[in-house]
Amino acid sequence: MASVAMLHAPSRAYVEPWTGELFGEGGVEQDPHVYPASAASGVHGEVIMAKLGNATAKAELGRATWKLLHTMTLRFPETPTQDERDALNSYFHLFSRLYPCGECAADFQKLLKKFPPQTSSRRAAATWLCAVHNEVNKKLHKFEFDCANLDATYDCGCGDAPVGATSSSTSDFMDLEFDISKDRDTGVKMIKGGR
Ligand SMILES: Cc1cc2nc3c(=O)[nH]c(=O)nc-3n(C[C@H](O)[C@H](O)[C@H](O)COP(=O)(O)OP(=O)(O)OC[C@H]3O[C@@H](n4cnc5c(N)ncnc54)[C@H](O)[C@@H]3O)c2cc1C
Repeated sequence: MASVAMLHAPSRAYVEPWTGELFGEGGVEQDPHVYPASAASGVHGEVIMAKLGNATAKAELGRATWKLLHTMTLRFPETPTQDERDALNSYFHLFSRLYPCGECAADFQKLLKKFPPQTSSRRAAATWLCAVHNEVNKKLHKFEFDCANLDATYDCGCGDAPVGATSSSTSDFMDLEFDISKDRDTGVKMIKGGR
């Protein structure tokens, strides 16, 4: 019986039909030879995707993506750890390889070289991305966005601190005594964009 278990893959394992590679439960590669630790080196490299000719698809993809990216930087920690900073930096470099519009990705790679991701704080990351988006806007002859309006534009109702908030305003959201309509320290009513 034990040998049968040895011979057969875990119940939810599957063989990737194109490559024949064996994936374990959750789609995570089990064999270290299939997914070596050095895979992190893939963060830097050439653009992977082909040109995206369809202008409508390109614009729709762009709008959805900018929404994701801005929301992400506006929820990035106020005071990130080195690991969190590395994660954001790697994310943008991987993104610049894998963005499904190849020609956009190629230009974005140039922008990343000129303006490397700023990861020291939420404010730094959010305003950096805003400036980079404005560079793309400039290239496409679109209006420059006022980066002072980031909080109002990307109010996701997520209940987190706006870009200008200080770390002292972060509270224990599991504390049921906490009145979320007011700042705990100052008693001031919460501004639009979160606590
Ligand atoms: C990384 C990336 C690179 C791209 N490169 C190209 C390219 O090379 N060629 C191409 O044709 N298209 C490119 N696009 C798509 C392009 O940027 C637009 O998304 C698309 O043209 C639709 O434009 P839009 O006018 O609807 O507004 P978008 O630029 O998509 O912006 C969406 C909304 O974000 C807000 N916004 C605008 N500027 C900013 C800012 N600076 N900061 C924060 N919020 C802002 C506005 O409310 C706007 O309505 C790229 C998209 C991405 C994500």
